[in-house]
Amino acid sequence: MFMPTTQLREISPAVRLENVRYAIRDLACVADEVSKQGHKILPLNIGDPNVFDFQTPPHLIEAVYKAMRENKNGYSPSSGIAPAVASIRDEAARKGITTIQDVFITSGVSETVDICLAALLNPGDNLLTPCPDYPLYSAVLAKLDVGLNTYYLDEEDGWQPDLDDIRKKITPRTRGIVLINPNNPTGSVCTRKMLEDVAELARQHNLIIFADEIYDKLILDEDAHIAMAAVAPDVPVITFGGLSKNYLAPGWRIGWGIASGEGFAIKPYLEGVNKLLRARLCANHPEQYAIPAALNGPQDHLVEVKRKLRSRRDLTMKWCNDTPRVSCVSPRGAFYAYPRVDIPEADDIFVTELIRQKHVVVVHGSGFGQRPGTKHFRIVFLPDEKTLSAAYSAIGDFLRERYH
Ligand code: PLP
Repeated sequence: MFMPTTQLREISPAVRLENVRYAIRDLACVADEVSKQGHKILPLNIGDPNVFDFQTPPHLIEAVYKAMRENKNGYSPSSGIAPAVASIRDEAARKGITTIQDVFITSGVSETVDICLAALLNPGDNLLTPCPDYPLYSAVLAKLDVGLNTYYLDEEDGWQPDLDDIRKKITPRTRGIVLINPNNPTGSVCTRKMLEDVAELARQHNLIIFADEIYDKLILDEDAHIAMAAVAPDVPVITFGGLSKNYLAPGWRIGWGIASGEGFAIKPYLEGVNKLLRARLCANHPEQYAIPAALNGPQDHLVEVKRKLRSRRDLTMKWCNDTPRVSCVSPRGAFYAYPRVDIPEADDIFVTELIRQKHVVVVHGSGFGQRPGTKHFRIVFLPDEKTLSAAYSAIGDFLRERYH
């Protein structure tokens, strides 16, 4: 019979994990509670298109199926399979990136971020990250025991990065800057001038730029996306991209990094990146065969995806403009809106009560960061118009009932 031993004690997690938060998934616990009580949840918190009426293009699925049938089920080279790397290079060249030094494929952009930050930062260094930001960055920094150094995105300026704030925050130990463009959670898209100005700061202070461009094909207004690395061919830049959003396959966990810039400047760092790439063997192998299919094949799905997203963005903005206490900068890319809300209590209480009382799930601004004294929540406008309308009507009722 099993006898418990008195010698066993609690196994405690590393202290540095106290700073790891991921509000988006943490809120799911409250939603689960409400769902178990039999209520239908209106999920405006999930950035996964496949949960809604979006499907992975069939030619990508065929490519992965064929690879599996052909027994491409072993390990791949650590940087990824040759045809996929070649197609990423070609795509980067089409976007005007001319100084490519390396391309590597990872298990989602999440792993690109993990590896690129781990390969760069020593204790005491810092990395500039946006506020509000996609919380993966602060989680990885916490894991590395590296402190946060955030710069504001300026709501008054359509959520463009606040250049003065960036200038103020650069210290002798600042090693790089993260720019998420199109942005999560605001949906903003950087202007060319802004990219040029950030690149100039990087030049002056010898910073590497991590250009998270995972939403680059989801530009909702007329203008095409401008790649940071195309604007700054000399500056060390790692451009992040992947299949999760543009190609509607987040569960396949395929992302990549494109390293560009002056060779002499970036190559020593890339040796570090490659060491880590080798240490974790490789990214998901058969799924890599979807990369050339995606980048070189038909792009028809994007027309339909953008049509739906524009219609849902417009519906979202109409509601924001018509609803007392709510205001919002119109998103120009991705599928997020980050409305400001004028309420007398904290936004995490607002969001928790909204789930409990109206069963609508959005994420509170304090989960992404915001200027002191301001309150926001993030909407994912992926659900269809009927679901969005029901959710917005419920949030409107909630605001009226709770705050009069
Ligand atoms: N970067 C941003 C800005 C994101 O919004 C996300 C996912 O939502 C990721 C990276 C992670 O992407 P992946 O699914 O490729 O790991």
